[in-house]
Amino acid sequence: MMTQSADQTPSAEIRDAAAPAPAGLPAPIQHYIDAEFVDSADGETFDVINPVTNETYIQASAGKKEDVDRAVAAAKRAFHEGPWSSMLPRERSRVLHKIADLVEERGARLAELESFDTGLPITQALGQGRRAAENFRFFADLIVAQADDTYKVPGRQINYVNRKPIGVAGLITPWNTPFMLESWKLAPALATGNSVVLKPAEFTPLSAGLWAGIFEEAGLPRGVFNLVNGIGEQAGDALVKHPEVPLISFTGESSTGQLIFANAAPHLKGLSMELGGKSPAIVFADADLEAAINATIFGVFSLNGERCTAGSRILVERSIYDEFVERYAAQAERVRIGYPHQPETEVGALVHPEHFEKVMSYVELGKTEGRLVAGGGRPEGFEAGNFIQPTVFADVPHTARIFQEEIFGPVVAITPFDTEEEALQLANDTKYGLAAYIWTNDLKRSHNFAQAVEAGMVWLNSNNVRDLRTPFGGVKASGLGHEGGYRSIDFYTDQQAVHINLGEVHNPVFGKAD
Ligand code: NAD
Repeated sequence: MMTQSADQTPSAEIRDAAAPAPAGLPAPIQHYIDAEFVDSADGETFDVINPVTNETYIQASAGKKEDVDRAVAAAKRAFHEGPWSSMLPRERSRVLHKIADLVEERGARLAELESFDTGLPITQALGQGRRAAENFRFFADLIVAQADDTYKVPGRQINYVNRKPIGVAGLITPWNTPFMLESWKLAPALATGNSVVLKPAEFTPLSAGLWAGIFEEAGLPRGVFNLVNGIGEQAGDALVKHPEVPLISFTGESSTGQLIFANAAPHLKGLSMELGGKSPAIVFADADLEAAINATIFGVFSLNGERCTAGSRILVERSIYDEFVERYAAQAERVRIGYPHQPETEVGALVHPEHFEKVMSYVELGKTEGRLVAGGGRPEGFEAGNFIQPTVFADVPHTARIFQEEIFGPVVAITPFDTEEEALQLANDTKYGLAAYIWTNDLKRSHNFAQAVEAGMVWLNSNNVRDLRTPFGGVKASGLGHEGGYRSIDFYTDQQAVHINLGEVHNPVFGKAD
């Protein structure tokens, strides 16, 4: 794993301005297996880096196959011995609500850890914590309201569905908003009675340890939740290839998803894949321009641009293009870059120097592919750490790599269009299909465009505000399957159909006696 380069040694001033490491951290960050915090079987650890200084601030246990085997064995035993897997939904729901209460109560600590570890602005980390609690509340309510299908053929047959938890679910998560994205998988997996093994991202393992205390206090039985830290190719790979883990829910890069798909194939596992994106925001001339600019600024610069649904390509109708670009660039220049712990910060530090290098290489590439109208490098006064100015390129052709490839940072490409047809062509012209944002006051056009755009989720005249009941997921290289609401319940359960005869036994008789 890369550490800081020599020319980025933080000065004393930066060390003073940066937040101190949160008090009371474990050393090292450990696994949590069968209700105990433990080191890796081989004692190995890996470095975790402070994104503001790029100095290693803590070690985390590097899980391998042996650690994953122990975690899966604990989860399997808990699943088979119960009581979690056989509890009444109402009882499980009470525990889940308690978990949500505890996440809310610990919101400040959670945000402190999350912001320090990821570089996310503290106000946004606080918001992600609230969303994590809401995910638990939502599934707590959903499982008690859940009704399963029954079908009646009068006088002949009744058919009903037994919904059953599947067993041990493997949950593999990325480093952007780690705690919230973990909650998104943990809540439905646990609500439905499964046991879990969570493998958080190695760039940001700090906040995941909070789950252990929260779950214990809320009354989740021993062994139902297990956590193995480690490198994707080691701990993650062992989980994917474990024969006793029938489900893998993965969020991360499309290329990692492809690899996991192949590795899971010999075991025919259930897979849910939430992958990368390069989502378009399409702004027509009749749109509310002020609202569209505010939304498209927030849509790509919030969460440091490290956001799967970021509207990182903005397509603008030619008649308002110049005005849009001018206003957008001016506003992007005003976005407040700052230390993650400061409440006024709108864009903090990118997660890791490796990711910083990747995003910076796209910024440099963009200078040859488009017209730089805002940002374009490291902000003044932040000579160390992973700080990048909100960067805007205009006149970007659809063939450009910054138009086609996911950058996952505060970088946006703006492209003009002349007709609705051309806008649709441009919107669909990438391998991804996660989200799309359409800005127009033409009712017919908005709905017809939404229908035609290749995206799993569309927002009309709106930022990314999602009702938890709606499907979440992408098409094309952005994902496989949908989560959200009852679709998550479907993923984490088997639906067994039971057929009962109500009438005469309907037997075509073979071998009838004459
Ligand atoms: P990543 O694919 O590098 O890693 C994600 C997780 O997979 C990590 O825990 C990693 O350790 C693990 N992993 C890596 N290689 C593995 C392997 N061979 N086997 C098993 N596990 C392995 O992704 P990232 O860089 O952490 O996250 C950023 C990506 O996630 C972006 O592409 C972003 O768009 C995507 N993302 C998608 C959504 C969504 O809902 N669609 C949400 C958030 C992030």
